[in-house]
Amino acid sequence: LGNKLSAALQKMQAVTVVSEEVIDRMLGEVARALLEADVNVKIVGELRKAIKTRLNFEEEAAGTNRRKTIQRAFVEELSKMLDPGTKAYDMKKSKSNVVMFVGLQGAGKTTTIAKFAHHYQRKGWKCCMVCADTFRAGAYDQLRQNATKLRCPFYGSFSEADPVKIAEEGVRQFRREKYEVIIVDTSGRHRQESALFDEMQEIRAAVEPDDVVFVLDATQGQSVGDQAKAFHEAVDIGSVVVTKLDGHAKGGGALSAVAATGAPVVFLGSGEHFDDFEPFNPRSFVSRLLGMGDMRGLVEQIKDTVDNKDQMDKFAKGTFTLRDMYEQFENVMKLGPLNKVMAMIPGIPQLVGEDQGGNRLKRFMYMMDSMTDDELDGRVDLDKCPSRLDRVARGSGTHPVEVHMLLKCHKQFERVVSKMGKSGLMKGGDANMA
Ligand code: GDP
Ligand code: MG
Repeated sequence: LGNKLSAALQKMQAVTVVSEEVIDRMLGEVARALLEADVNVKIVGELRKAIKTRLNFEEEAAGTNRRKTIQRAFVEELSKMLDPGTKAYDMKKSKSNVVMFVGLQGAGKTTTIAKFAHHYQRKGWKCCMVCADTFRAGAYDQLRQNATKLRCPFYGSFSEADPVKIAEEGVRQFRREKYEVIIVDTSGRHRQESALFDEMQEIRAAVEPDDVVFVLDATQGQSVGDQAKAFHEAVDIGSVVVTKLDGHAKGGGALSAVAATGAPVVFLGSGEHFDDFEPFNPRSFVSRLLGMGDMRGLVEQIKDTVDNKDQMDKFAKGTFTLRDMYEQFENVMKLGPLNKVMAMIPGIPQLVGEDQGGNRLKRFMYMMDSMTDDELDGRVDLDKCPSRLDRVARGSGTHPVEVHMLLKCHKQFERVVSKMGKSGLMKGGDANMA
C-alpha cells in the first residue's frame, strides 16, 4: 500500500502544474489504495470529499505549496477521522481500575492483556488479571502462563464453568486487595453469536468496569466495522486496541472501528512478545498508512521534538551523556512504528542491529531506566565497574554483555556528536541523529 500511495503522491510531484485533473486522478488512486488497506468504502468517500473541499478552500496555495497543502490535507483529514473526539479512560491512582477486554476469538485479547499489564507494571501500577474465559480450552492456562512470566497476580479456575461468577469473584477479591489495574479477560467466539454477547453483558454488569477495551485483529479486513458496531451496541466500548500490525496487516480497519464505536484507539500490537506494544499516535499511524514516512518528514518531526535550545547548545559543545542519549531515544520512540523509523535514520540500523532495531532500542532504554543519576550523567564510568554493569543488567532483565553494547553504542554517538560540535554542524538547531 505504502508504495502505491507514495507513487500516487510522487506522480503529482513530477508534474509542473497541479491542475484540477491531476488532483482528481490522484485522489482516485489514493482512494483505491486506501480501500486495499481495508479502509471502509464510506470512509474513503468522505475523505475524498473532505480533501476536495479543503483544497478548493485553500485555493490560494498554488504551485509547490499546493503539493504540500495536498499532502498535509491527507494526513490531517485522516488523522481527524482517527480522532473520535472522546478521550480514552484515564487510570486513576487512588482506586481499583477495572478494565474488561472484549473481541472475537483469536483477535489477540489474552496476548494484549499481558502487554497491557506489562505496560502499566513498568509505569509502577499494581496490576492483576482475571480469566473469565471458560469457553475455550486452555484459556486459563494461557493467561496464567503470561501472568506468571510477568509476576502478575491472576484469578481463574480450571473447574468453575460460570464465567460471570469467576469474573465477579476475581474482581471483588482484587478490589479488596487494592490492586490498581484489574484486567478482565473474556471469551470470544468465532462469530458474533448471541450467547457471547449475553455473557459479555452479564460480566459487564457483574464487574462494573471503568473501561471496556475492544481488541481488533488488523488482518480481518473490511468486516471490522460491523464487528466493532455489534460489540459497541452490546457492551459500550470505551477504547480500541488494534493487534497484528506486524506482517502484512494494513490497519485501515482501525479507521472503521473508530467510526463505528466513537471510541479512540489507545494501543497498537505488533507481535507476540510483551514489548510489541505501543501507545497509539494518529499522525504516525496515518503516515504509515500513507507510506509517507520519508526522510524529510522524519527530520522535521525530530526537529519538532528535539527543538530544545539548551540541549542543542550542549551538543554543540560536544557533551553527550547517557541521559542525553536516553532523551534522544525517547524522541525517536515518539515518532511511531519503531523499526521503520529506526531504519530511516542514517547510522542507527548499523549501531543497534538491522533486524531488531526497535526491540534493541527498547532494551537499551530499560537498561538506562535501571541506572543511577551518576551513571546517566557520566560521573562514573560504568565500563570500569563490573558490579554496576551486573546491577544494571539485573534491574533491566538483560545481560551484562548487552549493557556493554549499550555503552559502546553511546561511545559512538558521543564521538559523532563531539565531531559535529567541533565542526559547528549542530549550530542553528539543525536536528541530527547520527
Ligand atoms: P484471544 O482469543 O482474543 O485471546 O487471542 P490470543 O491472545 O489467544 O491470540 C491469538 C493468536 O494471535 C495467538 O497465536 C497470538 O500469539 C497471536 N497474536 C496476538 N497478538 C498478536 C500480534 O500483535 N501480532 C501477531 N503476529 N500475533 C499476535
Ligand atoms: Mg483469549
